[in-house]
Amino acid sequence: MAKNIFSGLENLGFDNIDDMSLYKKKEEEAESDTNKDAKEQLNPAALLYDRTVVCPVCGNTYKAKAVKTSSYRIVKKHSDFFIDYSVINPYFYDVWLCNVCGYAAMKADYNKVREIQKENIQKTISLKWHGRTYPEVYDVNIAIERYKLALLNYTVMEADSSKKAMACLKIAWMYRILNDSDTEMIFLEKALEGFNYAYSNERFPIYNMDKYTLMYLIAELNRRTGNYDEALLWFSNVITTVGVEQKLKEKARDQKDLIREKLQQKGNIDNQNQDIASSEAPKKKGFFSRFF
Ligand SMILES: [Zn+2]
Repeated sequence: MAKNIFSGLENLGFDNIDDMSLYKKKEEEAESDTNKDAKEQLNPAALLYDRTVVCPVCGNTYKAKAVKTSSYRIVKKHSDFFIDYSVINPYFYDVWLCNVCGYAAMKADYNKVREIQKENIQKTISLKWHGRTYPEVYDVNIAIERYKLALLNYTVMEADSSKKAMACLKIAWMYRILNDSDTEMIFLEKALEGFNYAYSNERFPIYNMDKYTLMYLIAELNRRTGNYDEALLWFSNVITTVGVEQKLKEKARDQKDLIREKLQQKGNIDNQNQDIASSEAPKKKGFFSRFF
């Protein structure tokens, strides 16, 4: 315990002031003021509002959480169109879920359900759905759960490949937020598979992407998942196709350069390894032979 700064005054009658703190009151006031400011700024609930949604599968009316458009800030745009947001993350609120029947979809797709698809959802999802209570404010793990529920619904509905691919891409992004790159890769690969199919089998626009933008995205997903040959081919298509806007061509060139750099580095390392292997092989032979 710190020495009492008022020691020496006991004889004057002040013998019971051990727990008196010099600055305590001011510190507490300052702290509570800061907390109040931070709370006001960082209270995500204040940045949300309720949107009334009618479930197209069971007809239930419910409130879906929506983010006020003025509330989030863009920090960074990634080369596969993922956006880093600050203040609040709109991706977390992208999936709407009917708690009565379990139908879930990204809000862009929510009302696009055909009769046969409704039946599939009722037979497969609704019968198993127990209901789920979510907190008022969602986090990345809740977002992953909700995107996966949407993906499950798309699968049961036999929805277009592009829908499943987009859900997979967004799940990959959520794992990027969590720095879980292994799981991110799994979902990027699934997204790529779906977009490849959608590219030649679906009508454009696909989620506001024209043919050339999807061409670029397929290239970039190939790059991110390490399929460099495929990526170079798709990027070259973007660059050489007439009618592609200049900005997208520039992006494709940048990403192509990244692959070249990577391959060059790899080439250098391989060469170095070869050099080391050839110069050190005689010396190390004895060392390695002990293991084999
Ligand atoms: Zn419903």
